[in-house]
Amino acid sequence: MDLSIIIPLLNEEESLKELHDWIVTVLRSNHFTYEILFIDDGSTDDSWKIITGLSESNPNVKGLRFRTNFGKSQALHAGFKAAEGNVVITMDADLQDDPEEIPELYRLIKEDKFDLVSGWKKKRFDSVLFKNMPSKLFNWAARRTSGVKLHDFNCGLKAFDKKVIKTIEVSGEMHRYIPVLAKNAGYSNIGEKIVKHQARKYGKTKFGMERFINGFLDLLTIWFVSKFGRQPMHLFGALGVLMFIIGFGFAIYLGVDKLFINPYGRLITDRPQFFIALTAMILGTQLFLAGFLGEILIRSRKNETRYTISEEIGSETKVKQYSS
Ligand code: UDP
Ligand code: MG
Repeated sequence: MDLSIIIPLLNEEESLKELHDWIVTVLRSNHFTYEILFIDDGSTDDSWKIITGLSESNPNVKGLRFRTNFGKSQALHAGFKAAEGNVVITMDADLQDDPEEIPELYRLIKEDKFDLVSGWKKKRFDSVLFKNMPSKLFNWAARRTSGVKLHDFNCGLKAFDKKVIKTIEVSGEMHRYIPVLAKNAGYSNIGEKIVKHQARKYGKTKFGMERFINGFLDLLTIWFVSKFGRQPMHLFGALGVLMFIIGFGFAIYLGVDKLFINPYGRLITDRPQFFIALTAMILGTQLFLAGFLGEILIRSRKNETRYTISEEIGSETKVKQYSS
């Protein structure tokens, strides 16, 4: 199979049919073998009904339905796991990304051997104040911290070589930084392509103002992880130990001074070093515990089920393909 088109969606009933038809027109005229994977991220409108209908009329349409809203990252992750195409393309469901870009993205991965090509909405049709400006700031910060020189990390339209998506884990809210995850996993052949972008035709954006806070926290996390390797929490732990040792050093100094050198000097508790020793030891312990906590979180998260699937369609087709 040439292509998997992965589409995460939340309440996009108005767009789905139009999007499907548009994608299919493009793919058929280019003679691709393909699957379209709709990941319904807990929609409460008729989105799933529409996906079921589409899959009945087009056997290349598959759908996964989450029990509730787990977020775009989880939806993408589920799509990555299920995808069977050699080139995997992600796009938003709201008709803002243009399916006409697919053939060229495919070529860039297949022939030019990019690991990943990210879309760049150079000419955007979103609110300037609430989207374009903050996103410029984001992208600048993301470039600086990650070393991946993309202009538009958040663009929903991206193409991947199959091997990339099968080896990265998109957790938390990391969908914005998939290229950075890829780079950290050793896929450094990353490309960028200017893509057409439309204004949202139906419904409204699913990400409110909290996206800025989330985005910055994710950015901090990703910077930290890329900076300090696989075990970033070791840094906190080590800092804690260091601090504790400094405090302990002061304590020893005070003790030795009092016992052997200056027994009739000031009371230990009256000396400034006492407070340094005390604070450094307490802070050191705290920091060490923070590192330990992080370590526990990282280790226990490995086998966590992050989403639950209530329905799946299109798997019959899969069986047929295997047996033929
Ligand atoms: N989306 C999703 N889960 C969510 C929020 C959004 O699957 O919790 C989907 C949404 O339906 C769309 C894509 O992610 O297909 C991008 O969302 P949106 O268009 O709202 O983001 P924006 O274009 O404003 O960045
Ligand atoms: Mg959108």
